[in-house]
Amino acid sequence: MTCKEAEQMVMPYINKELTDKELSAFLAHVHTCQDCYEELEIYYTIYTGLAQLEEGGEDQNMHKLLEESLWASEMRIRGKKIFDVYYVLSQVLAMAALTGIMIMEMLKI
Ligand SMILES: [Zn+2]
Repeated sequence: MTCKEAEQMVMPYINKELTDKELSAFLAHVHTCQDCYEELEIYYTIYTGLAQLEEGGEDQNMHKLLEESLWASEMRIRGKKIFDVYYVLSQVLAMAALTGIMIMEMLKI
């Protein structure tokens, strides 16, 4: 992903509009690119700060909030990957069990 592409994803990220695939690429980029991370932090601070003002919330540590948001996003992607692996595994196991049952049935006859 280029910095230009990452920049275009900053707002969709804040609005939680990225797909898992986009999110994954975006996170990987901001982890390795200081410029884009700073860009994200600036936008995040402005927009989350504004939203909090409207809600009348207390002052929050924006850097900490962003870190938490990134962490949550990461967990979401990782959780989904683990889920996918389990799904495939369970399918394979189900097929193996089914094959085993069929073989046992055939041996009985
Ligand atoms: Zn970048």
